Amino acid sequence: MGTFRTLEDMDLAGKVVLTRIDINVPVENGQVTDATRIDKVAPTILKILEKGGKPVLLAHFGRPKGQPNPEMSLRVTVPALEAALSKTVTFVERPDRAMIDAAPADAVILVENTRFTPMEEANDPQMAGFLASLGDVYCNDAFSAAHRAHASTEGVARLLPSCAGLLMEAELKALDAALGTPNRPVLAVVGGAKVSSKIDLLKNLVSKVDALAIGGGMANTFLAARGYSVGKSLCEHDLTDTAREIERNAKAAGCDILLPMDVVVAKEFAANAPHRTCGLDEVSDAEMILDAGPQTVAILAAALDTANTLVWNGPLGAFELTPFDKATVQAAQAAGARCKKGELIAVAGGGDTVAALNHANAAQDFTHISTAGGAFLEWMEGKPLPGVEALKG
Ligand code: AMP
Repeated sequence: MGTFRTLEDMDLAGKVVLTRIDINVPVENGQVTDATRIDKVAPTILKILEKGGKPVLLAHFGRPKGQPNPEMSLRVTVPALEAALSKTVTFVERPDRAMIDAAPADAVILVENTRFTPMEEANDPQMAGFLASLGDVYCNDAFSAAHRAHASTEGVARLLPSCAGLLMEAELKALDAALGTPNRPVLAVVGGAKVSSKIDLLKNLVSKVDALAIGGGMANTFLAARGYSVGKSLCEHDLTDTAREIERNAKAAGCDILLPMDVVVAKEFAANAPHRTCGLDEVSDAEMILDAGPQTVAILAAALDTANTLVWNGPLGAFELTPFDKATVQAAQAAGARCKKGELIAVAGGGDTVAALNHANAAQDFTHISTAGGAFLEWMEGKPLPGVEALKG
């Protein structure tokens, strides 16, 4: 992962600390309806204040496509920020250094949506330079925006002494413990709908983990590649060569691939559809695979029992439709139980994973759940995250 500086490493006394945060929260009728992201970033802002710094908060909000748009003004987040910090927050549309310097030493300043100009997403050096002129130190606490090289996430980080905020630090440490310098054996569980959206992810994982369990719709493509008939199942028949290539790469890297060995099939994609459990060579042309069967779950539970580290992305079946949530729920609960006993480090995230683990009532037991979406997936793909790279050195 390389080293990155943290707030602990920085002298912030009397300094203006430009702080990139993610407060892209849901809003209805001018009210924040879920302040989780704001509550999570509050400790970083309070830590900066505690160290004598003046936080100037930078954030994006929605997708204004480079144009000012009153419906996507960050002003709406001020009351929730003030509640989380128990402090007044000063909102500014057009910040300048004189105004920031004139504010009291313990002021918290929130700057309008960084994406109100196209220069942000273009990582325009002029915008990065302007942002840098506003502060003395840069702190990035927005892991979820770190896969984008934007002026407020990457450009400015290269112009000022930079560090990770508390949330970013926790996320990077958890990710490093899972794939960077993990306690082996490492098991990866990857499910979800399609192989096509996760080719890079699967290729990276087979080179890093000791075993890879593949489930969900994407397992059907691997089963088809092994010659099984998958009936009406979701299956990308054009990707069977890719599936075979991933299996070959896994073998060369010493990574065991665990595919379903029994499956739950139905004739329609619907909750409570009539269904049966069968072997891999018993799926009829009229049936579709909607979940992994009990033998598969038992094998997975055994793999979980010997693993020291787990990385999980995607459900093992059509978990939104009862009873096709069973494999996902049982495997998630088995993993959660081992985490709770301190026997497993489990990191999960991306796409529907958080919803699936919440559905299984296991999310709270996992070591770390990333809510970062795209940034988490790019990390699983092994890609450098520009916002993180800029903090190193
Ligand atoms: P993803 O966003 O790629 O993680 O995919 C999640 C979606 O995959 C969920 O909506 C699941 O219902 C769906 N899914 C998982 N397994 C299957 C399956 N066997 N057949 C159809 N859809 C599935």
